[in-house]
Amino acid sequence: MLTRKNAKNGDELSILGFGCMRFPTKGNSIDEVRSIAMIRDSIEKGVNYFDTAYFYHGGKSEALLGDALAGGYRERVKVATKLPPFMVNKLDGAKKILTTQLTKLQTNYIDYYLLHMLSDKPTFDRMVAIGVMEWLEQLKKEGTIRNIGFSFHGNKTDFEQLIVAYPWDFCQIQYNYLDENNQATKSGLQLAYSLGIPVVVMEPLRGGKLVNNLPEQVVNEFMSYDPKRTPAEWALRWIWNHPEVSVILSGMGDEKQIAENVRIADDARANSFTEEELKVFDRVKAIMLEKTKVPCTACGYCMPCPSGVDIPGCFAAYNDKYLLGDKRNRFKYMQTIGVMSKQPGYASLCTECGKCERHCPQSIQIRSELKTVKKEMEGPLFKPVVFVARKILKIK
Ligand code: SF4
Ligand code: SF4
Repeated sequence: MLTRKNAKNGDELSILGFGCMRFPTKGNSIDEVRSIAMIRDSIEKGVNYFDTAYFYHGGKSEALLGDALAGGYRERVKVATKLPPFMVNKLDGAKKILTTQLTKLQTNYIDYYLLHMLSDKPTFDRMVAIGVMEWLEQLKKEGTIRNIGFSFHGNKTDFEQLIVAYPWDFCQIQYNYLDENNQATKSGLQLAYSLGIPVVVMEPLRGGKLVNNLPEQVVNEFMSYDPKRTPAEWALRWIWNHPEVSVILSGMGDEKQIAENVRIADDARANSFTEEELKVFDRVKAIMLEKTKVPCTACGYCMPCPSGVDIPGCFAAYNDKYLLGDKRNRFKYMQTIGVMSKQPGYASLCTECGKCERHCPQSIQIRSELKTVKKEMEGPLFKPVVFVARKILKIK
């Protein structure tokens, strides 16, 4: 198992991290015996970074990880878990969540603690205002938390604001060959790296869609290369080829996947791709682009929209619906355009002023395409549901 050094604190982190959100299940529950065996086996194979969250597996993931790490494994690994800002309105609420997490994890310290889905600056400002950041700093001094970070699903502009808003110890972003220009984007990854902030990557295979839902032409392109590699191996190697990436999290759901990922992580070095290998991705991306509904490259020249529409985010979620057959596309749409953030960017905010179209190098009829996005991704219940959810979560 290769490791990469955390430039901030010297931790040698395994380049493959275990994402604890897709354990095998039995009926409606986690298959505990099998999951614990998988976690311990992965540690023996060199995995030393485990990422869970308050919500994963309906709140059961942290407890399962705590059980798996009992009996001497805890000291061999780094544990990452997350505080959900959307559930925290007062500092006391955050304190209660952390106490529960430490109990479930059977530990008295957390190595990497993240604000979960912190995807816009106003939410960060709210955390500062209610004292969460100051409290986290105190916990860091006491050793209860070793590193403070955030996980991110917003857009490039939000990421650029957040990454410089605080002296983060690390961050976690969605990144894969399809998301090079989506969410934090490649330039966001490079910005974090230039600031010396280690980056953990999630969704390397887009929840399996870069394996199971790929167009046939793409699969053929990958499989025609010698030596033969599966689409999953290509996707992982593409990410590890980036020196800016510290750890890839893989939500490993079975023993075969662990064995396969560990094998790849044994020799996936940064900057190791040849010209020929990089050309495979040029061809794959060209095929993907051809099959997208809106040929948006997420260049961002149309932004900012005076009405707050996240134009590339809207098109990215809409394209995924057709390209990858994403059944959770409405949820992804809501997540991408920050529906729970202070300034959501949904398509229906468009007032058709036309300003954006003057700047689009792809000559996309943005106004008309946004109407289609609104029709297909929002639907009649969208606004009432969002209104109620924001009211419940007290988002203004
Ligand atoms: S046409 Fe719509 S999306 Fe474009 S800038 Fe105007 S309001 Fe924003
Ligand atoms: S300018 Fe055009 S291609 Fe670029 S992000 Fe906007 S819509 Fe997409």
